[in-house]
Amino acid sequence: MSGIEITQILPGILLGEGPHWMDDQQCLLFVDILKGDAHRYFLKTKRHQILHIEDAGSGDNVSIIIPIEGATDLFIVTVGRSLAVIHWSPSDPDNHTVKVKTVLHTVDAHLPNNRFNDGKCDPQGRLWAGTYACEKLSGEPVKHMGSLYCLDVDLTLTDRVNKVSVSNGLAWSLDKKTFYYNDSLAYSIDAFDYDDESSKICSRRTVLDYKTSGLQKDVPDGMCIDETGNLWVANFYGKKVICVDPKVGKIIHTVELPTQNVTSVCWGGEDYSTLFVTSAQTGLKTEELASQSAAGSIFAVNGLGVKGLPATNFRVNLQMLKNRINFED
Ligand code: CA
Repeated sequence: MSGIEITQILPGILLGEGPHWMDDQQCLLFVDILKGDAHRYFLKTKRHQILHIEDAGSGDNVSIIIPIEGATDLFIVTVGRSLAVIHWSPSDPDNHTVKVKTVLHTVDAHLPNNRFNDGKCDPQGRLWAGTYACEKLSGEPVKHMGSLYCLDVDLTLTDRVNKVSVSNGLAWSLDKKTFYYNDSLAYSIDAFDYDDESSKICSRRTVLDYKTSGLQKDVPDGMCIDETGNLWVANFYGKKVICVDPKVGKIIHTVELPTQNVTSVCWGGEDYSTLFVTSAQTGLKTEELASQSAAGSIFAVNGLGVKGLPATNFRVNLQMLKNRINFED
C-alpha cells in the first residue's frame, strides 16, 4: 500500500493491549497488562493519563478497560481473573492509583494461574473477554486451559468457548451474523455464526490458517473490522498488521511496523480513518530489544484508504450496576 503514514504517538509500554477509542472525549484507551496500568491519551492535547489499578484479589494484571455507556467516568476492567468496575475521571491526576472494590465476577477459580486477556463489546453492548493459563515460573502459556466468557447487560456471565489457549482478537461482522475470534495458539483467524439476540455462537470454522498462508512465524493477536467488513489483525512476532477479506480468506494488505511484537489494533480519530496499533517489549530477547527502539510503542497509522466504525461500550443495565457498585470507588 502506498501513502501510509505511521506515527509513533507514545513509547515505552511493556505489554500494550486493548486499544479502545473514546469518541466523546477523542482519546485512546489502552492497557499495559503486566504493569496493571490503564492509559488514556488525548490525541489533540497530547495529555497522557496513567491509572494504576490495584489487585482485585485474583492477580494484578489489567487486560481491558472499556467505558460503561451512560455513566461518565465508570469503566469495566478485567483484573487478574476478575471482571470489575472502576471510577476514573479526566479530573483525576495524570498519575493516579485506584483500588478495585467492585468485583462483578471472578472466573476460572480452579485455575489460579489463569488471567483474563483480550476482550470487547458485541453489537448489543455485552462484554466478551477470554482467559488463558500461563506457567507460574516461565510465564509460558499452557494450552487449552482458558475460556471465552460473555457478560450480559444484566450482569449474568456465560462461558461461550472452552479449551482456549490464548484468547485474543474479537470482532463482529457488520450484519451482526458472524463473530470472528483468534485463539492465538491455534494459529488461525476463526469465525462462528453469531446470534445477536441471544449471543449464542456455533459452527466454528477457519477464515485464515497462518501455517498455510506464509505466516509460519506469526501469531494472530488483537483484531478489528473496517467499514467494508475486512479484518485488521495484529501479528505478534510478525512485525505487521494484516488486512484479511474474511469472505474469501485472503490477505489483501500488509502494513509493516518498526517493531516485532505487534499486539492489537482499533479504529479511531475524528473520522475513524486512523488505525491505532499497540505493541510490546515483552517476548523480545535482550539484543532484539536493544535494536528495536520502537518496541512497546503505540502507533497511529493513517492513509489506509478505509475507515472503521465506533467501538461499542458496555451497555450494562445501570440500575443493576448501581446496586452492585461500592460507592467508595
Ligand atoms: Ca492480545
